Amino acid sequence: MTEAQASSAAARGGAPRKAGDTLADKLARLGVARDEDLVLHLPLRYEDHTRLVPLAQVKVGETLQTEGTVVDVDIAYRPRRQLVCRIEEVDERGGRAGLTLRFFSFYPNQQKALEQGARVRVYGDVREGYFGPEIVHPQFRVVHEGAPLEDRLTPVYPTTAGLGQETLRKVIARSLAADPGRLAETLPDEVVRRRALWKFGDAVTFLHTPPPRLAALTQKALDARTHPAWTRLKFDELVAQQLSLKAHRAARAKRNAPVLTGTGVLQKQLLARVGFELTRAQQKVTREIAHDLKRSMPMQRLLQGDVGSGKTVVAALAALQAIESGRQVAFMAPTELLAEQHYRKLASWLDGLPVEIAWLSGSLPAKERKRARERLASGEAQFAVGTHALFQEGVEMPRLGLAIVDEQHRFGVAQRLALRGKGLAEAHQLMMSATPIPRTLAMTFYADLDVSVLDELPPGRTPVVTRIVNQKRRAEIVDHVGKRCEAGAQVYWVCPLIEESEKLELQTAVALHAELTAAALPGRVVVGLLHGRMKPAEKAAVMDAFVRGEIGVLVATTVIEVGVDVPNASIMVIEHAERFGLAQLHQLRGRVGRGAAESQCILLFEEPLSETAKARLKVIYESTDGFEIARQDLAIRGPGEFLGARQSGVPMLRFADLERDTALIEQARDAADELIAKFPDAAQAHLARWLGGRAEFIRA
Ligand code: ADP
Ligand code: MG
Repeated sequence: MTEAQASSAAARGGAPRKAGDTLADKLARLGVARDEDLVLHLPLRYEDHTRLVPLAQVKVGETLQTEGTVVDVDIAYRPRRQLVCRIEEVDERGGRAGLTLRFFSFYPNQQKALEQGARVRVYGDVREGYFGPEIVHPQFRVVHEGAPLEDRLTPVYPTTAGLGQETLRKVIARSLAADPGRLAETLPDEVVRRRALWKFGDAVTFLHTPPPRLAALTQKALDARTHPAWTRLKFDELVAQQLSLKAHRAARAKRNAPVLTGTGVLQKQLLARVGFELTRAQQKVTREIAHDLKRSMPMQRLLQGDVGSGKTVVAALAALQAIESGRQVAFMAPTELLAEQHYRKLASWLDGLPVEIAWLSGSLPAKERKRARERLASGEAQFAVGTHALFQEGVEMPRLGLAIVDEQHRFGVAQRLALRGKGLAEAHQLMMSATPIPRTLAMTFYADLDVSVLDELPPGRTPVVTRIVNQKRRAEIVDHVGKRCEAGAQVYWVCPLIEESEKLELQTAVALHAELTAAALPGRVVVGLLHGRMKPAEKAAVMDAFVRGEIGVLVATTVIEVGVDVPNASIMVIEHAERFGLAQLHQLRGRVGRGAAESQCILLFEEPLSETAKARLKVIYESTDGFEIARQDLAIRGPGEFLGARQSGVPMLRFADLERDTALIEQARDAADELIAKFPDAAQAHLARWLGGRAEFIRA
């Protein structure tokens, strides 16, 4: 049995395989669970092995195939061990052209194949080398002169360690041939024809095995994924996603969440205590949420509002509506620091009201934590506040009516799934995020959420002035900060982000703290330190001192990134701002400008700056609007990272591109509606083809 046959046998549930890294295991790592999924395992790109570029015409910067005779081959040791091979060609007029092939890792048999006099055909990216054009790690094979060329483009598939392109090509071809049903249409003729789409079978066949001798323009379109064959695949993928989201919504509509009518009594008392009037935007979203909570269909609403727009009080009002209705509420935050802030704020707002809040902190002594859990389990405590992690361990809340997730964008999609698995399905959910979701994302991944937007900041805020300052002028900034502190200002000083090493980041924080305390600002201001490795109680003590104004400069790692609210703080200094992402910079800057004082955000950068870093700093300098920043962020980073897909490790849309295929997303949405209304069987077949075992994920 060949590997390929083995895989299809395994996929059909045939002969049991011995444990180990079988072909089926490797394919599973690529998301190919069923044999028929291979049909949708489409090329990443194509290589052109149909043409030979004469050596004399090889140009730096191109990816090409060429051929020549080995004239020299040697192992060099500088700067490190490498195999260097020179191929040449002499033309009719005696002109000589050559190319260097360079291998930093190679097998003995490769070295042997490249013997002097051998004729080799090579493929790769030509770059400028020390001795003229060269290709590093070319694909190559020994040929006889005049050996036939490929007649069509060679697909290159996404793959995984130990799975070669040849094998993949073979198993895919076999899967395509195995069952004509795999190429059949799932969509009704009229849906396809009205949009002038290619037939599914034609499109798939074209992408796996492009016909011979394609025009240059067609090749380009294939690579850019603008070719109609790609359009059809992207369309189908998006339709599947829309169908899945709609199916999920329909299922949600059938579930029964508690109807939270509320009485308004507690809400009224809260409003009397907070010491401010709700903004019009806050009133509007509060009404939207209140309306949802009164229905039995579980709410799934995303509350979007820029940093500082006042989401917490809106969440508190929603919570009270649930509590007035005799239900419990869970309030989750991504970090301990933020959870603690919420807890304190809510506790002070609700002090004296008949509401018991349970504080679920990882730092509480086991006994107290146990007690908090017991109070929640018995229903005596109605309100639980804690980190997401704590809730994931499982907290028993028999009368849970509403779950609130703060800074939702910080949780990956996979984490959202885990939550749903915890039996929250029957509760209302309110998610809050300061990172606005760009429209294309809202139409796709979040299409099952209703969205409320806080598009107004509370009055009395002064806009934050952003300055971008070269690290070389750091001394001036230190002096400036010292002066402002002496005049009563409070400052956050954020340490450089060191992604690779938390330890190093910590050391930097400690060093910066020492520098500012001893050298830069001696005797002028109290400098505090806050970092992720401190015990929660220590962190809380430092934050308290900062809130009380006893600390002038708070040196901090990004633990303060989200949610922290100290209105008197008016200066934010960020070291090595070039290392931070846009969303982070925006969040950090949002920590100031919360009070009446004129606020500043000082971004220190060090040269040289990468293009991306330059682009980010420009955006953050030019815009204070979270929506605009998120849009730019999407353009710079791409949607995968935006969604936290990197953390979850699962790619979401494989073919469609959220930035470029906006129009297609809209068409797919219409088509999905049409399918559900008129062709439910087709909708079913389409989902089965596209989602197979992954349905649960796409629903998230
Ligand atoms: P975010 O939306 O970033 O979570 P917060 O809920 O932390 O914002 O609110 C930011 C600050 O604004 C808090 O100090 C909060 O008490 C205050 N605040 C909220 N709403 C209003 C309002 N309508 N008027 C004045 N201040 C408000
Ligand atoms: Mg907040």
